[in-house]
Amino acid sequence: MTGPRALALLLLPVLLGWAGGHPVPGTKSFRKLLLISFDGFRWDYDQDVDTPNMDRLAQEGVKAKYLTPPFVTMTSPSHFTTISGRWIEDHGVIHNMMFNTETQWKYSFKTTQNKTEWWDNGVLPLWITAQRQGRKTASFHYPGGGAKYQGEAVQRSLVESHTHPNGNETEWRQNIDIVMNWFTKEDFDFVTLYYGEPDSVGHLYGPDTENRRAMIQQIDRTIGYLLEAIGRHSLTEHLNVIITSDHGMTTMKKKPNITEILLRNYISFKDLVQFDIVDYGGFGMLLPKPGQEEAVYQALKNAHPHLNVYKKEEFPERFHFAKHERVLPIVMYADPGYSISGRIILYFNKGDHGFDNVYMDMKTIFRAFGPDFKKNHLAEPFDSIHIYPLMCKLLGVTPEPHNGSLAVTQEMLVDTYDQHTGAEMKRASALQNTAISLTVVTGVLVVLFVAGVTFTVFCRKKTQRADQNSTSEPVRMTEL
Ligand SMILES: [Zn+2]
Repeated sequence: MTGPRALALLLLPVLLGWAGGHPVPGTKSFRKLLLISFDGFRWDYDQDVDTPNMDRLAQEGVKAKYLTPPFVTMTSPSHFTTISGRWIEDHGVIHNMMFNTETQWKYSFKTTQNKTEWWDNGVLPLWITAQRQGRKTASFHYPGGGAKYQGEAVQRSLVESHTHPNGNETEWRQNIDIVMNWFTKEDFDFVTLYYGEPDSVGHLYGPDTENRRAMIQQIDRTIGYLLEAIGRHSLTEHLNVIITSDHGMTTMKKKPNITEILLRNYISFKDLVQFDIVDYGGFGMLLPKPGQEEAVYQALKNAHPHLNVYKKEEFPERFHFAKHERVLPIVMYADPGYSISGRIILYFNKGDHGFDNVYMDMKTIFRAFGPDFKKNHLAEPFDSIHIYPLMCKLLGVTPEPHNGSLAVTQEMLVDTYDQHTGAEMKRASALQNTAISLTVVTGVLVVLFVAGVTFTVFCRKKTQRADQNSTSEPVRMTEL
């Protein structure tokens, strides 16, 4: 009976595959998801200013004590870790600036936003993965949303212009209205929305200033507007929201209080350095001229008590940063508050980031609310790398390989979540049960039918052979 059994077994997965997949095609089994990033929102920014809406969110949803961004604590690298679940050395977006050591060209953060070659390094962001699994996705100003990945663009993507103002509260509200319409009128499933504040104000005035506190109140009002807009668009039971950020901010130290880091004091750029990424806050990289790597390293490694210098291959593993080919041979980071200048000091920021992610000033926020999240739940701190599998779970998307773990965030979800959001999934379960029953019945019928045919043919052949007085071997069923 090998043949009929094989046939029946072949039929089973075909029929099961029709409805046994997850989710069932054509059914709306999962809720929509909005990911909002407020750039440079330090973990404790809501603690010295009134934030009634964020307080309300903490009661109506999930608040992590803080979130640890990846190193380097910089906008594009960190945002791409959030959207891909990969460490920076895996996804390859290692800096805000795109650069080319051959041509010596450097492109600013905003210029890179339309440069696919900076973002598309083989790691797929969630927009593309979700699209390939039938979800409708959009990016509103989110870093990396304007690039193509393996030739595929995000279905809808708005990229910040060079002159886009960061702090216009009226525009912030308009952007929320646009996104709400994407969800309700155009049935988008997953949208990422980015705001350039409070990063700008943190750089310009410093994190511990009245200007920053005023900006946090503006963000809080915007979150209040978001809550109201979600209700107005009848999305309360259909939309999960994650509010997070890419890094914190620390106050920069200046002369005469400290001795600033100026690399020219220790090395000759003209003689030793072919290409450099410095003058960009507390992080820097150098490509020494051929044969000069050791000389550069020796000259810098003990040059300044607040400058940490490594050869690329000796950079600490815990940063998950230096393995990518784009990382230059000498990697440096300063202690918090120190900037790394090259030939002259051209540095004006009063606040900055880019420092070791172990420091509390580099930690950022994680908030979440919506039908699939618990209420009034205070989560322990975690790494932003784990947001990706959580988003995949919420959207019902099978993740790409990633460095995160759903186990870290699973406790934030309501207990019934694993029953696949209750009533909505009952329909899918019923379909699956029907399919399985049909499969079993069909399988049995097929087996009976084939066995019947086999037996009939066997008897007929046996009769024929008996008639011919044949002595050849018996007929095997498998010949059928
Ligand atoms: Zn940033």
